[in-house]
Amino acid sequence: METQFKVLEDEIISGRDIVVPEFLKSWLSKPKLNFIGNEPCESNSKKVFCNINPASEEDLCWVVMSDKVDVERAIKTAREAFNRGEWAQLPQKERARIVKRLGDLILEHRAPLAILESLDTGKPIFETFEGDIPRAANNFHFFSQFAEEEEKLVFENGQDEHTSFREPLGVVALITPWNLPLYLETWKIAPALMMGNSIVLKPSELTPLTACYFAELTLQAGLPSGVFNVIHGFGDKAAGEFLVSDPGIDAISFTGETSTGRAIMRSAAVGPTRISFELGGKGATVIFEDADLETAVQETLRAGFRNQGQICLATPRVFVHEKVYGKFRDLFVEKAKQIKVGNPLNYMTRMGALIGREHWEKVMGYVCRVEAPMNIITGGDRPREIKRGAFLAPTVIENVPLDHAISRDEIFGPVVSLYSFKEEVEVVKEVNSTQYGLSASIWTQDMNRAQRVSKAIHVGLVWINCWFARDLRVPFGGQKRSGVGREGGKHSLDFFSEWKSVCIRRLS
Ligand code: NAD
Repeated sequence: METQFKVLEDEIISGRDIVVPEFLKSWLSKPKLNFIGNEPCESNSKKVFCNINPASEEDLCWVVMSDKVDVERAIKTAREAFNRGEWAQLPQKERARIVKRLGDLILEHRAPLAILESLDTGKPIFETFEGDIPRAANNFHFFSQFAEEEEKLVFENGQDEHTSFREPLGVVALITPWNLPLYLETWKIAPALMMGNSIVLKPSELTPLTACYFAELTLQAGLPSGVFNVIHGFGDKAAGEFLVSDPGIDAISFTGETSTGRAIMRSAAVGPTRISFELGGKGATVIFEDADLETAVQETLRAGFRNQGQICLATPRVFVHEKVYGKFRDLFVEKAKQIKVGNPLNYMTRMGALIGREHWEKVMGYVCRVEAPMNIITGGDRPREIKRGAFLAPTVIENVPLDHAISRDEIFGPVVSLYSFKEEVEVVKEVNSTQYGLSASIWTQDMNRAQRVSKAIHVGLVWINCWFARDLRVPFGGQKRSGVGREGGKHSLDFFSEWKSVCIRRLS
């Protein structure tokens, strides 16, 4: 197997169009089942749905559609595993060893995982192979080490000794979106496992593949039965909703749309159950007149078009100081036109397909609303040479009014609007003018100005002279309607555990 994967890795980076290997074709030909108690399980509903490749619009595989009985079964299995204590009561060091092993296994299986992720999402193999899959492995490597270093707290107070330590919560529900499937699943799985919880994961119905493949890897890693469970299916009035409204769940970590967050919050009231929400965004880049324009253009292109613009941290609104607007605009558009859009299974491709036809139509719905004085400078449709699939050329629009839906809504596609500004106070107000507050990127050489603006902007993450630089210890999350709570480093451990304090009065 190892040699087979090595050959596949070489094939991926060769730059040729990759042919899906036989062993993955055979894997895809079997229906994707739930994973409960360390076993693949048919659904009680006996219903399946078709998973479609968004680039070719061909069927990829069948997936079981879970009903309430399936969800209850997964929760019961997870609870029994938790109560047995084989995982929850394992010394942290031992848990860390298995969690680290999960990261190692993902790296070993990097090539098949990258191919599956690209087939499922339409994103370029360059991104899955170089980015998403290694980053998923890193989530396990990071948390296995980070959590091990966590100390227990001891306070002496006269005759008393207070000791505080973490305990697992129990059974946690993880609900994830389609834009970074395995990466975002593992971002939650790793700390939840490290804290000793049992898990029920519901991946997005649009991207079930890598979660299925990963479930098989948990067997190899030696995770005790019932600690990690996966149920497939839809969200609203379906598997997702059954999961989050079940009183047997101790916490819900959700990443997805703000409107879904609202619905889940209502369901979670049944507990009330602890929640952490990573929601939508409408990020902004601000370019002042003293910015290093060449670098700013490069990074702003990534911030707008990486993952076809389907990143919560993307900055589809770009505010440029009037003195450099023309120069920035010309450079930006020239480079946007050069982005290679095409077959996701070719290492040289930099933009693939959007997640599917329905989403493509939603994005195009915004593009079609462009009318004078608004102006599509480039893009606005499927690239001419691509005949089918959910492809959209990098699209740049200018003169969009700030109160227009294109400026306000999360479009979640490769659509960037350019705005010119004159004054710092004016641009701060404009950046703050949406319901979202996730991220912003500021470009200037004046560090006093950069600090001032980052304080005035209502977002959870600000990058100065860069974009998407991540450190997993940093509190991650959004302000306003972009989230509830923080994940990352200690914050993830806090979310997935409960502090217990014990006070001992010494006998005199
Ligand atoms: P979505 O909200 O439609 O779906 C996310 C998940 O929730 C899916 O698994 C879905 O089946 C499930 N779901 C839907 N309705 C549900 C319900 N009523 N109860 C329980 N589960 C339900 O989001 P999406 O379209 O998959 O993902 C795109 C969104 O995710 C964008 O808004 C994006 O900004 C956001 N996102 C945010 C972050 C972040 O860190 N803030 C990261 C990635 C994506």
